[in-house]
Amino acid sequence: MYLIKNVVIPVSKEIDLKEVLAKKLRTRSIEKIQVLRRSLDARKKNNLKFNYTILTELSAKFLKNPDVLEYKNPEPYIQIQRQLSNKNPFIIGAGPTGLFAALSLVENGFQPFIFERGDKIENRIKRVSDFWQKGILDEESNVQFGEGGAGTFSDGKLTSHKSDYYTNQVTKYLIKFGADQKISYEALPHLGTDGLRKIVINIRKYLEDKGCKFFWRNKLENLNIENDQITSVRINGKEYNPEAVILAIGNSARDTFEMLSNKIEMESKPFAVGFRIEHSQGFINEAFYGDKNDFNITGPATYRLTAQEGKRGIYSFCMCPGGSVIPASSQKNGLVLNGMSFQKRNNEFANSAIVVTVNETDYGQGILAGMEFQRKIEKKCFKVDIPYFAPAQKAFDFLNNETNDSVPTTSYLPGIISSDLNSIFPPGITKTLKTGLNSFEKRIPGFTGKGILLAPETRTSSPVRILRNKETFKSATVSNLYPIGEGSGYAGGIMSSAADGYKLGCLFY
Ligand SMILES: Cc1cc2nc3c(=O)[nH]c(=O)nc-3n(C[C@H](O)[C@H](O)[C@H](O)COP(=O)(O)OP(=O)(O)OC[C@H]3O[C@@H](n4cnc5c(N)ncnc54)[C@H](O)[C@@H]3O)c2cc1C
Repeated sequence: MYLIKNVVIPVSKEIDLKEVLAKKLRTRSIEKIQVLRRSLDARKKNNLKFNYTILTELSAKFLKNPDVLEYKNPEPYIQIQRQLSNKNPFIIGAGPTGLFAALSLVENGFQPFIFERGDKIENRIKRVSDFWQKGILDEESNVQFGEGGAGTFSDGKLTSHKSDYYTNQVTKYLIKFGADQKISYEALPHLGTDGLRKIVINIRKYLEDKGCKFFWRNKLENLNIENDQITSVRINGKEYNPEAVILAIGNSARDTFEMLSNKIEMESKPFAVGFRIEHSQGFINEAFYGDKNDFNITGPATYRLTAQEGKRGIYSFCMCPGGSVIPASSQKNGLVLNGMSFQKRNNEFANSAIVVTVNETDYGQGILAGMEFQRKIEKKCFKVDIPYFAPAQKAFDFLNNETNDSVPTTSYLPGIISSDLNSIFPPGITKTLKTGLNSFEKRIPGFTGKGILLAPETRTSSPVRILRNKETFKSATVSNLYPIGEGSGYAGGIMSSAADGYKLGCLFY
């Protein structure tokens, strides 16, 4: 098979890809093609192009063309490591990591037991809507905790920096359980929260059919470790003796991190903090793609912005076109925000996190110092008299240290409260955020003038890493414990977390 890069066509034209390819290669015809990737080239506004990478059969003579390369399907590289006599390893956490670990374990003949502190989706939706509409937060079942994990109420972006055998397996499973085929080739695939919820329910039903068991509202509370081995675990007050424990707890389980920090080898890890910035989607469309496009073909405009101040990076993160800013707290008296959208991405707003990387120099030393730093910021943003209202400020006013009583409407529910966001982060971080915003304004005039900042964004990735062996995935100090996914510090985002989970399952027979 050969891969042909840079097959470029204007988005507005209905074109036969085979013809375009034949023309590019100066050959009469092309028989069969498969689209490997499609990205949108928006470098020139109002002149948007799709850039395709295509797989096809060709003769080797075409290799003279610099856009033609030989292609081999990525191969698995994880080696089977360990025999388990018990067919029911314990998985803690039913997020993307835990679910994809279960899927690959099932392929190898296991029937894992999956313990999840939150509810299954049908009940979780009710808890989350009670929170969003009435301010009643269930600390065990919320936007962070419950079936599908933190991604369930998300934009369902499936961006991945890797394209290897394991991410391909994740994509295959997502399609098997209901995703559109095009997630296999779009450069920026997404499912929307509605798409994800359906897929996660289908995965659950499949796993149950295969003999797996889910235990909802079951929280891992303690590990008993003797001679570097887990001898028992306590879940909802009950002791169990699993042969292997797979820890897929995500980045928000602070009580679990606290319990683990006394028992296994962990370290603090850099992450990023900042705000969400919201604009009208119309402004973003025009600013990034121009005003003469068919957005039904391109989808609403999306962006990725970066800047640098000294050694610190400032960047846009988790941009949600046509979405809304949501409260995503998992602890009472603390506020954290995130972004969510539906498959259609047809909301009138566009939001993105604008964040700055932070490390030990910001939050100090200690395994849980980063986590405490997050908690402090989240507390500062929580207003007791108007719980879960988000502090908000026009980006322009933030840059000029001005407050204004009237902040325009945003997508955020329950509501916003006009505030001075200059006082939320330590001065160094505030200064860096300003450098970033000023740089983005230079590139996109109006970005700060029309942008509203809402605070805070703190849970960009895990504040800790649970140390593990690179090849066996075993905890550095406990031989039957397997820390995986985002919470353990080895992944970030839905795809890479799911792929880390999938790899884990490949280790056992
Ligand atoms: C609102 C929102 C939007 C997001 N949008 C995107 C996006 O568009 N694209 C993207 O790639 N990423 C997005 N993310 C991040 C993404 O959701 C995570 O990277 C991903 O879910 C991590 O997967 P995970 O399985 O490792 O952890 P999680 O998804 O966090 O799952 C961990 C699970 O473990 C459970 N758990 C924790 N502790 C215990 C315990 N002691 N006992 C039992 N169960 C426990 C939790 O309840 C949770 O369900 C978003 C996150 C949020 C919050």
